[in-house]
Amino acid sequence: MEVIMAKYGEIALKGLNRSNFEDMLARNIRRRLKTLGNFEVDRRQSTVYIKPLSEDVDMDEAVKRVSHVFGIAAVQRSLVLPKDMDEIIRLGIPYLKGALEKAKSYKVEAKRSDKSFPLTSPQIQQVFGDAVTDAFPDLKVDVHQPDMTVMVEIRDKAAYVNAEKIPAVGGMPVGSNGNALLLLSGGIDSPVAAYMMAKRGLKVDAVHFQSPPYTSQRALMKVESLCEKLTEYCGDIRFYCVPFTEIQEALRDNCDGDYFTVIMRRLMLKIANDICRKGNYGALITGESVGQVASQTLSAIGCTDKAADFPVLRPLVGMDKKEIVEIARKIDTFETSILPYEDCCTVFTPKHPRTKPRLQEVIAEEEKFDFSPLIEKAINGIVTEDFKIGGERRTVNAE
Ligand code: ATP
Ligand code: MG
Repeated sequence: MEVIMAKYGEIALKGLNRSNFEDMLARNIRRRLKTLGNFEVDRRQSTVYIKPLSEDVDMDEAVKRVSHVFGIAAVQRSLVLPKDMDEIIRLGIPYLKGALEKAKSYKVEAKRSDKSFPLTSPQIQQVFGDAVTDAFPDLKVDVHQPDMTVMVEIRDKAAYVNAEKIPAVGGMPVGSNGNALLLLSGGIDSPVAAYMMAKRGLKVDAVHFQSPPYTSQRALMKVESLCEKLTEYCGDIRFYCVPFTEIQEALRDNCDGDYFTVIMRRLMLKIANDICRKGNYGALITGESVGQVASQTLSAIGCTDKAADFPVLRPLVGMDKKEIVEIARKIDTFETSILPYEDCCTVFTPKHPRTKPRLQEVIAEEEKFDFSPLIEKAINGIVTEDFKIGGERRTVNAE
């Protein structure tokens, strides 16, 4: 029988809270696999064991899903064997055949946490290595840079043989560090920001501002499809869609165009702030990166921050576009993000935005019009949807 062994990452450092973290991790794994079949997930000795309960489970897909669960540093697909050296050789070598045939060199690494096993780790390595060499005489032993490393582990309940340690996403279990609300546009950056903060253990929900008819239904569907894709890493996501048209029109009609972008962003944050308070989120997240566009200068960021009571996390702040794109490709949001539908941020934007807005001036300009009734109306018009792992989608409220 095969199992997936998932090894912890940073969670291992967590001393006191460790068992909470581990429970959360096991729960997240169960949740991620639910739509794939029945699995038994339990944890022992700094490892989560994931055992399929039926024959027809797609193990490749299961390995992929588990390797995308934050909190796991590496995954191994392993054969479970009785703790008997002859049996380990008899069944282990055929199991490794495919991988051994592809390699030119190998080494065996043994780990024995069950000290009652009669052979020591170096002895296991020796005996198993001899058997591999007998079966594959052309294969060279290379202890420094082998093509493949065969692991033989003797643990409490069984012995395990595996050929490949697949690197996983690392980070901390989603939910272990609280909740935050992401400002999600249809662009490249904000989905990456979601990934980065989920990696640090935050449960991420998302708010999106749309301005129909200036922004289209297709633009909204693009953002929803990003949400769907993000569940692969972030788990379930609650999505708040804010009708923003009237606010933007009022802003266009009543305030100096040079301040349009910075005031618009402040108004977005005020609404996001309200969702944060009501939904008990601990922070806001944006995809901003210093200097990327006019609204992302230090002074613009400073003016925007002042509109929020909650900390605004900007995980991409020091990254180059190229680095951001690399992650977007890895998490498969890039191709969706570059679909050319407009975002409300590009509606009514001025030709010459202030790159160094001063807070006093911004506030004075913003106060030329009383936005509070429109803000309240927008908040009341929010449509909330839940995006679940595995593609399920549910409307929580409609207008
Ligand atoms: P992105 O690629 O994430 O769209 P960007 O480089 O296009 O970012 P801006 O358009 O200035 O930069 O947006 C900066 C940030 O503001 C975004 O990363 C996102 O967090 C937030 N944001 C922009 N537009 C929206 C929107 N329509 N709804 C929600 N948040 C938005
Ligand atoms: Mg954008």
